Amino acid sequence: MAKDDNLECSFCGRKKSETDLLIAGMDAHICDQCIEQAHGIVKEEILQSKKSKLSKALTVKKPQEIKQFLDQYIIGQDETKRAMSVAVYNHYKRLLQKNTNDDVEIEKSNIILVGETGTGKTLVAKTIARMLNVPFAIVDATVLTQAGYVGEDVESILSRLLQAADYDVAKAEKGIVFIDEIDKIARKGDNPSITRDVSGEGVQQALLKLLEGTVVNVAPQGGRKHPEQKFTEVNTKNILFIAGGAFSGIERNISKRLNMQAVGFSASLDEDGIDQENLLKYITPSDLKSFGLIPEIIGRLPVLTFMNPLDAKTLRAILTEPKNSIIKQYQKLFAMDDVDFTIAEEALNFIVDKAVTYKLGARGLRSLCEAIFSDAMFDLPSSDEKEFHVSKEYAESKLSIAALKKLKAAS
Ligand code: ADP
Repeated sequence: MAKDDNLECSFCGRKKSETDLLIAGMDAHICDQCIEQAHGIVKEEILQSKKSKLSKALTVKKPQEIKQFLDQYIIGQDETKRAMSVAVYNHYKRLLQKNTNDDVEIEKSNIILVGETGTGKTLVAKTIARMLNVPFAIVDATVLTQAGYVGEDVESILSRLLQAADYDVAKAEKGIVFIDEIDKIARKGDNPSITRDVSGEGVQQALLKLLEGTVVNVAPQGGRKHPEQKFTEVNTKNILFIAGGAFSGIERNISKRLNMQAVGFSASLDEDGIDQENLLKYITPSDLKSFGLIPEIIGRLPVLTFMNPLDAKTLRAILTEPKNSIIKQYQKLFAMDDVDFTIAEEALNFIVDKAVTYKLGARGLRSLCEAIFSDAMFDLPSSDEKEFHVSKEYAESKLSIAALKKLKAAS
C-alpha cells in the first residue's frame, strides 16, 4: 500500500492518490488527465496534417513544370501546351486564393481548343487531368440537348464527372470536364433564329450556366429515367471546362477577316506574312462568333488556343517519343510474353508514310500497327520464338491495299 502511494504520473508528477487512474507502462506511469491531454494533442495533430495534405495536393506545379510534364506525352503543339499550362496554373491559384477584402476575384480560365480531329485535343485535356490527379470526364456535345428534348440534358455532364470521382462530390467539384465537338452546337447561320434551335443555341445557353459556375442537382446515374433516385448537389464553380472542336471551315472566316484587315488597316501586311497553310494560328474569339458560338459562351471560355495539323515528322515522333508511345506499348505487350520486339527505322517511316497518304492521322498510326502486328500477337505467345523484328518488308507484307482501304473507311 505504502509502495503504491509513492507511484506518480511520469508526465505531470501527480501522486497516485491525486489521480482517478494511473496506468502503468514498462518503466513509467500515466494518469487519466495526461491521457486526455495527450489524446487532444493527437487529434489536433491529425487534423493539421490532413489539412496540410489537402493544401499540398492542391499546390500545383508552375507553368513551366506543367509544360515539361505535357512534353512527355504530347509531341509539338507548343502554343497550346504553353497556354494550357498558364490556364491550369491560374485555375488552381484561384482555388487556393484566400478570402481577401480587396474585391478582386480571379475568374475561371476555361479553355477552348480548336483543331482538326486527331490532333491531340483530348490527349492534352487527359494529360492535364492525369498530372493534377483530379477526376476527368469526356462528354460529346453532339448528344446534349436542351432540357425537355430527347437526348441528354446538359446536367448529364456532371453525372459523368461524379462517376469519375467515385461519387465523391468534393473531388468532382475540382475536376476537369472535356467537352468534345463543341463546334457541333454552333448556331446555324450568323443570325439568331426566332424559332427554337434545339441542337444549337438552346444547348449553348444551357451550357453557359455550367461554365459560369452554378449549383446543379445531378442524378448520379444520369438521365431522367429513374425519378426516384436521389439527386446530388454539385457546384461547378471550381470545375475546369476544356472545350474542343474541329470547327471545320473556320479557316474561311479567319482568312476573310485577315484579308479585310490587310486592306483596311495595315496595307503593309503582305500576303507572304500569313501562313496560309495553318490559318488556325490566327484564330480570335470573333471567328468563333462568326462560326456560330454565342458571345456569352465565348466569354466563358476565355483561353482560346489551336492545334497544329500533324505533319509526317510529328507523326513519326508520336510513334516512339511520348512516354507511353504506341511502339513502347507494343514493346511492353510482347515483353510480357518474353518476346523482344524491335522495329526498323524504315518500317516506322513506312507506317508514317501510309498514315499520311491515306490521311489516317495520329489515330491511324495505331490501326496501322495493329494490322501489321496482329498475326505476331496471335502466334508468338504459343511459340518458342523470343524475338520479333519488324522490317519494312515485313510491314509491307502485312499491309495489303485492301487492308489500307479498310482502315481508311473506318477512320
Ligand atoms: P482529338 O481529340 O483532337 O480528336 P486525340 O487527342 O483523341 O485527338 O488524339 C488521337 C490520338 O492521337 C491520341 O490518342 C494520341 O495517341 C495521338 N496523338 C495526337 N496528337 C498527338 C501529339 N501531339 N502527341 C502525341 N500523341 C498524339
